[in-house]
Amino acid sequence: MILRLDRLMTALPVPAGPDANAAAAVQELMGGKFGEMSTLMNYTIQSFNFRGREKMRPFYDLIANIAAEEYAHIELVSYTINMLLSGTTTRGTDPAETPLEDAVDARNSYHFIASGQQALPMDSQGNFWTGQNVFSSGNLKLDLLHNFFLECGARANKIRVYEMTSDPTARAMVGFLLVRGGVHIVAYARALEKLSGVPVGKLLPIPEIVNKKFPETRPHEARGEHRILYRFSPDDYKRISEIWNGPHPEDNEPLIVHDGPPEGAPVPDLDEEPQLTAPSGPDAETYSPDMLADYAGKIFGAEVKAQATRAVKASK
Ligand code: MN
Ligand code: MN
Repeated sequence: MILRLDRLMTALPVPAGPDANAAAAVQELMGGKFGEMSTLMNYTIQSFNFRGREKMRPFYDLIANIAAEEYAHIELVSYTINMLLSGTTTRGTDPAETPLEDAVDARNSYHFIASGQQALPMDSQGNFWTGQNVFSSGNLKLDLLHNFFLECGARANKIRVYEMTSDPTARAMVGFLLVRGGVHIVAYARALEKLSGVPVGKLLPIPEIVNKKFPETRPHEARGEHRILYRFSPDDYKRISEIWNGPHPEDNEPLIVHDGPPEGAPVPDLDEEPQLTAPSGPDAETYSPDMLADYAGKIFGAEVKAQATRAVKASK
């Protein structure tokens, strides 16, 4: 089971301005082959499939625990895309004014036709994410080698997206995820080292550019976030500390397990885009909690209506 917290893993600044094409580039970090959906689903599926886990419990704990963090990463990338898309077309409710005119020149038409200027599970070219991006061989060494490669590929793509846009939201997200992805690269390297004795950490960094080169990584590294593996569970996955220990391969500072998720930041509440009928059309009735309580009563009876009315009162 997954426990969900209505928090972003890190705070995102407001974009410099609406930027549909930067949003299209960021989609690669969402649904690309090396995007966050791929890391999430690779580690999730591998953890479900893990046989003989009592014997290899620390490795199972590591993969399962990192899977949980990747959920927070797809959330961060989604909000970056949504924030960049906010206000990219003319807000209004009159379709005759061609409010979506600017969207014909945007690289990703799905953002405007299939959604209300929102993130979608696709890459920067508009290809939907596919389960063919999941590798789950059942062989632990092979899966860990794959995960190490996947994180390095993800790092390369993040760096290139960073080089495509100077937008502060996109760069803050990439900076944070370079730090967190760096943790995962070291984690899989450590796992391979524990399994084989081969000093995999000596290969780092891949690509050959250190995180410190990106100004947005520095506040996170200054807090030691590049050395912290969060334990994303109240009581489980404790044996990650058998792998996440010793010195960091780049700065030799100790690797630390933090019990629980990071504090995080509030989730942004983005403005409506009425020209896209997002969330509702120009003629739609104004939503009212009292009306919902009324309907609940009609369908489920007086007791449910009383319950809903109490909830509405409590929220006022
Ligand atoms: Mn990630
Ligand atoms: Mn990762």
